[in-house]
Amino acid sequence: MSRIVYVNGNWVPEEEAVVSVFDRGFLMADGVYEVTSVLGGKLLDYPGHAARLERSLGELGMGMPMDADDLLEVHRALVEKNDLVDGMIYLQITRGNPGDRDFAFPPAETPQTVVLFTQSKPGLADAPKAKTGMKIITIDDIRWGRRDIKTVQLLYPSMGKMMAKKAGVDDAWMVEDGFVTEGTSNNAYIVAGGKIITRNLGTDILHGITRAAVLRFAREAQMEVEERPFTVAEAKAADEAFITSASSFVMPVVEIDGAAVGTGAPGSVATRLREIYLEESLKQAI
Ligand code: PLP
Repeated sequence: MSRIVYVNGNWVPEEEAVVSVFDRGFLMADGVYEVTSVLGGKLLDYPGHAARLERSLGELGMGMPMDADDLLEVHRALVEKNDLVDGMIYLQITRGNPGDRDFAFPPAETPQTVVLFTQSKPGLADAPKAKTGMKIITIDDIRWGRRDIKTVQLLYPSMGKMMAKKAGVDDAWMVEDGFVTEGTSNNAYIVAGGKIITRNLGTDILHGITRAAVLRFAREAQMEVEERPFTVAEAKAADEAFITSASSFVMPVVEIDGAAVGTGAPGSVATRLREIYLEESLKQAI
């Protein structure tokens, strides 16, 4: 079934959803994106995604293309028009179409390009990997220095996913100066000495919306959290490892570079956090 896509104020069938070849997103990766999960037709963690979008745009000298209520309305209408039950809403905003290719930013009044579409994933919350766990490899982190901005420059994460695929595993964790930064499209955690350890926020990782929620729920459940960088050796020796992201929620990692983590099966902390996250986020879903 053809999706109904939102493009610059218009609702169009996906076959007719087009942007200019001069769009800055296409030519310069000059744009940002957000992915919001939908479960049972409701948006998860929407306020967090909307706030991060505004921040990402602001860091690149752009404003929000519409006010917060209208943006939420577009999300809701997209769910409705596409009968979306479980899946994701992808949103992308670029610096627009200046009418030609030029490195310099176009005048501020150039209309931004705003695109939103749905991705249907029936049974998203029951992903089989949550029961078996993911296998990952580690790769060098050679991305730019502002990973806290959610830009559409996803070439290296795509290459990382392909390296993982070639190695016969599910994903890759990126490593800089011996310390894990994050996964190709998720935040990375270990459980060691009874603590949940994950890299502290800064410009070297994306400030995951799921990360913020999971750490809050963990603390509320009296789990100890330590926000600091950890090494690959620590991860391999940890009791558990896991990732978080809007589309995978909390997902256990059971193997790193061919070595089993803990018992080699999903750990109790990751499993519990997944349950809590899904339960609590669904309560607050809009
Ligand atoms: N880190 C990176 C590099 C990502 O691309 C993502 C999600 O796309 C995340 C972390 C997780 O962020 P969130 O929980 O907001 O989906």
